[in-house]
Amino acid sequence: AHPVYANLPTTVFEEMSGLARELGAINLGQGFPDDPGPLAIRQKAADEVLNGYNQYPPMAGLPQLREAVAGHYGRSQGLDLDWKTEVTVTSGATEALAAAFLALVEPGDEVVVFQPVYDAYLPLIRRAGGVPRLVRLEPPHWRFDRAMLAAAFTDKTRFVVLNNPINPAGVVLPREDLELLAEFCVAHDVTAICDEVWEQVVFDRAAHIPLMSLPNMRGRTVKIGSAGKMFGLTGWKVGFLCAAPELTHALARAHQFLTFTTPPSLQAAVAFGLDEPGDWFTAMPAGLARSRDRLGEGLTREGFKVLASQGTYFLNVDLAASGVSEPDRAFALRAVKEAGVAAIPVSALYEADPVTSILRLCFSKGDATLDGGIERLARAR
Ligand code: PMP
Ligand code: GLN
Repeated sequence: AHPVYANLPTTVFEEMSGLARELGAINLGQGFPDDPGPLAIRQKAADEVLNGYNQYPPMAGLPQLREAVAGHYGRSQGLDLDWKTEVTVTSGATEALAAAFLALVEPGDEVVVFQPVYDAYLPLIRRAGGVPRLVRLEPPHWRFDRAMLAAAFTDKTRFVVLNNPINPAGVVLPREDLELLAEFCVAHDVTAICDEVWEQVVFDRAAHIPLMSLPNMRGRTVKIGSAGKMFGLTGWKVGFLCAAPELTHALARAHQFLTFTTPPSLQAAVAFGLDEPGDWFTAMPAGLARSRDRLGEGLTREGFKVLASQGTYFLNVDLAASGVSEPDRAFALRAVKEAGVAAIPVSALYEADPVTSILRLCFSKGDATLDGGIERLARAR
């Protein structure tokens, strides 16, 4: 028996995308843009495939990409990363997460995890022998407080996993919440594994603050990023692990036996995008905010209760508050099968005591797709 993995269901993202493909439904489930992504970056990747070097790149990543990552985080987040000792390129944030859990978590270590939880975390933590301690966040604000952290942190706590901006909640945590978490990390001598893949996808006046930048957190934080989310190229699977040299040393030992490297053409193209982003990092979120508003306003007109979204590709609908009595999963299955629109039931991202009234919708889509989605969701209701 291999219970940790064999007993897992297929991830809800693949389940819903599979149903959407099979039924020809509009897919507002899994998070990916329907725009093909920045042409200059894709052109650079194509040039590299045709005329560049296509053999194994250095294990830690192409030097130009590691430098570009450090430079980008310096400019955009004020971080002072040394690319030679503190930046590792991985095959997506997914590999970065696996490397972090496998390299760092020892059997019996307690790991504080917030739910709703990105579904890769718990199986990896358990595979490493870690013991998750769940903190349950609730709509509409999805915030944690001192009492919740005090109940979760114990003298066995060695790690906390923070996804910020939060998928699926669409929350960008304010400094005061990060300060509270940092206080617990320092008091309990805990390392933070920060999944910040949505860091560039923030709207309006929200600002992403890396936990690593808080006092006393620089040396005890592993920061994870993803070019897939930065540039809307989700299939590329180019990720980054940033951490102090001692942590990076251990992370690199896991990375070398997970994937060893990541395609050099894609790394070179991502380096190019980070070095010469043009207006991408303002135009991309501005365009997404317009799409968020189009979906949100359309659903509101149809009588749905829409929750705020400050970041990510997602906004949430509170079904119960919209007068839908069905739980999220039943509604989502009916919506895809009967009305032809796929969404993510957020209860799938809780392990214990799920919130069952929230439907996550992806708005990184063209207007016609969003309008069709609104109409079909209204029909399902
Ligand atoms: N973490 C979170 C919170 C995500 O939303 C995603 C992608 N949906 C990932 C990790 C995985 O990123 P990647 O595609 O770079 O592996
Ligand atoms: N992160 C994407 C989402 O939240 C899904 C990634 C995946 O399919 N594993 O929709």
